[in-house]
Amino acid sequence: MTFLCEQVVSEIDRHDLNCDPRIFHVLHLFLTEPGSPVAREVQRLIASEEGLTAKALLFVYENFVQPNVSSEKQFESMKRSQGHLDAIRSSAETSAELCKDAKRKSTKDDVIKALSDNMAEILSRTAKLEQELAASQSEIFTDSLTGIYNRRYLEAEFAARQARPSPKYFLALLDIDHFKNVNDTYGHIIGDQVLKLVATAIKSLIRSQDVLCRYGGEEFAILFDSADETECADVVERVRLGVTKHKLVNRKQGQTIGSVTLSAGLALVEPDDDFDTALERVDRLLYKAKQAGRDRLVIQM
Ligand code: GH3
Ligand code: MG
Ligand code: MG
Repeated sequence: MTFLCEQVVSEIDRHDLNCDPRIFHVLHLFLTEPGSPVAREVQRLIASEEGLTAKALLFVYENFVQPNVSSEKQFESMKRSQGHLDAIRSSAETSAELCKDAKRKSTKDDVIKALSDNMAEILSRTAKLEQELAASQSEIFTDSLTGIYNRRYLEAEFAARQARPSPKYFLALLDIDHFKNVNDTYGHIIGDQVLKLVATAIKSLIRSQDVLCRYGGEEFAILFDSADETECADVVERVRLGVTKHKLVNRKQGQTIGSVTLSAGLALVEPDDDFDTALERVDRLLYKAKQAGRDRLVIQM
């Protein structure tokens, strides 16, 4: 631990990390909870060429620390709010229709006009509320770099599914092979562009019912709604081959980056799984795919 502390301090000096409380929070967790996912991420960063940059640590904060605070509750509360809004909208629409009917029969005009205006106001306010809700919901659950769902969404969606009776469905993790080389060769900014392109390509290759999230740096997760192994493996293979076929070009500099390959693990989520047990199972398969030479899918036996 002392050795790790020294490493952290030297990394902080090396990268001139400022005193952002979020960075402090991540490093504090790293030192006090050695076996935690946060600690594993920080350790991975220390071992990487990039080291502990502020950007990488903020990413860890956003995806590994903050989700634990109350993402499930936030998710549930948003779903409830959406339900309330739907109810308001539907009753306001019904009342507005009633007003229109009554108007046609020209009874109690003033009252009806007031009611009608009132209903119009309710409808307009409801629409605004819906917009606000959708905007804040999408901000919380969206990965800022790629625009796809983030790890927080994956956890929330997972919890919602596990709450259903006897859930069973496949989960895949896909990791870009040798992505460090892309950063080392072309720089971080191009690396970010490649991540965006890969995310967009994956999104275009999955089906509407498959849920895609950025799980970590260059790792993506797909939650399927099916327990059919062949069906889910076919989607993963289509994604992997499709991404590899994609030729990456930096248009600004006319630079050809070539293409990237993906390794993947695919496993069935069982009713008694929690997020960590399910992810660990898939991660083990992903690790096997890497060990076996990368650019392949390994499925749970
Ligand atoms: P492997 O095939 O074993 O997965 O090799 P790898 O190089 O892809 O994996 P490794 O875990 O050694 O390195 C991952 C790299 O991903 C290191 C880090 O700089 C980079 N990375 C993670 N997040 C981001 C990001 O948001 N932007 C950029 N540009 N790079 C990132
Ligand atoms: Mg990785
Ligand atoms: Mg990788």
